Amino acid sequence: MTPIEALTQRIGDIPVTTMEKAVKAKSRDFFWYSPVLKDRLDHISADAVVTPRTEAEVLQVLTVCHALDIPVTARGAGTGNYGQAMPLAGGIVLDLARFNQIKSIRDGVVVAEPGVLIGDLDDACKDAVGQELRMHPSTRETATIGGFVAGGSGGVGSITWGSLAVPGNILRIRMATMEATPRLVDLTGPDIMKAHHAYGLTGIITEITLPLAPAPDWIELLVGFDDWQSCLEAGYTVARNDGFWLKEVGAVQAPAPYKYFRRHQKFLNETDNVLCILVAPNSVDALVDVVSHAGGRIAFRSDQASAEDRKGLPHLHHLLWNHTTLRALKTDPEITYLQMGYPENDIAACVAIAKRFEGEIINHVEFTRGQGKVRMGSLPLVRFRDEARLREVMAQLEDMGCEIWNPHSYTWEEGNRSDADAGLIAMKREFDPKGLLNPGKMIGWDNPDYVFDPKSEHVFGGLRRADR
Ligand code: FAD
Repeated sequence: MTPIEALTQRIGDIPVTTMEKAVKAKSRDFFWYSPVLKDRLDHISADAVVTPRTEAEVLQVLTVCHALDIPVTARGAGTGNYGQAMPLAGGIVLDLARFNQIKSIRDGVVVAEPGVLIGDLDDACKDAVGQELRMHPSTRETATIGGFVAGGSGGVGSITWGSLAVPGNILRIRMATMEATPRLVDLTGPDIMKAHHAYGLTGIITEITLPLAPAPDWIELLVGFDDWQSCLEAGYTVARNDGFWLKEVGAVQAPAPYKYFRRHQKFLNETDNVLCILVAPNSVDALVDVVSHAGGRIAFRSDQASAEDRKGLPHLHHLLWNHTTLRALKTDPEITYLQMGYPENDIAACVAIAKRFEGEIINHVEFTRGQGKVRMGSLPLVRFRDEARLREVMAQLEDMGCEIWNPHSYTWEEGNRSDADAGLIAMKREFDPKGLLNPGKMIGWDNPDYVFDPKSEHVFGGLRRADR
């Protein structure tokens, strides 16, 4: 009997599938955004997909997988970008999409199971208490709250609330450990970082408590600028103004908006560099004054657009964050992207990058808040030539003072460009002593002395062979 057959026998009526097509489909995420990862991981598939619907079922599956030494890779909706939810060593994908009840909503606080879609959760909070999640990824409608907390970092809302990692943005995480008898641990305060952005390496999240925010009727604005520098300067001015009530400020360099925002094309000029803003009704007029004074042209304003103009338009958040890349990829398949931070407030550096990499990089800046200051993060669109050139570009950007989080790597360390993290290794030793959760994503598990080297690439020794 194979381990998967033994598992199937021991988990009662918890749904399992070994159908090749279904398993392959649930073994993928948005890794293919990266031509490098597409090359490395396209063949990856689990042996089975198991779909628990309750916390008790999660515990039962983990107990049996622990006993049978079966690797377990958690999956929300599989919208992660770096093979985060891909079962590199086979085993099972633990599909949490049906473990999706909202437990409670009260003034300022929501408690939910991990498989709830973020948009459903957000809508339920509005219906129940007239409030909303503080932030969501641009995949609001397709991603789960568990996947966002375990794999994401921030998004729409981060201009006001900062990143998910900031104390106060996640109130509590309940997590099941991967031990002979799995425990349920309640993580609060700094312990939250044992589960947040840990790629499901330290446990399976079974419940999340999040704070809520007031929910005005956000207005969408697209503001066109003739040149990139004016667009960035206006974005920075808006982002740092204490009087505006904002949910999003993103800047996209020409020619991307006209070329890739197809449904919005009728409002744009070919040469427009575009500021995309979500603003509360009580701030919109003052904000329009500021951007107009800075040379901006109001190309689209949702509260003043006719029903005909609004027909068929995607939400503004579907133009931003990694949706900008998605839209570019639909038109230009040789586009890929990077994730980076600019030196603090350094618009000159952004402009210098635009000049130096003209024809190769189209920039896209997301303004966020961090430690009381406005930060400029970026998901630039990069015309892919080959892997060597991509590494060279990253090195040059680092030389120019930028911080890179490499989306062309499947390991936690290389993605964060960091050495092995003793804290994370210790957590994994405590909660997953056999190393069965999401194998291959943590170099430090195999090599606790690992020192990051941008010139070399780690290859996970247990990577499932392509000919299997
Ligand atoms: P998955 O991709 O299924 O999983 C993500 C990670 O979490 C994996 O490592 C998985 O193993 C782990 N995981 C999932 N559920 C659990 C659980 N219950 N317990 C433990 N581990 C678990 N990210 C952002 O942060 N901000 C953005 O604005 C953003 N925009 C995006 C736009 C596009 C077009 C795409 C393709 C991706 C974007 N992302 C963004 C990345 C991704 O969508 C988000 O991180 C998303 O929230 C992931 O949710 P998911 O349900 O798809 O998780």
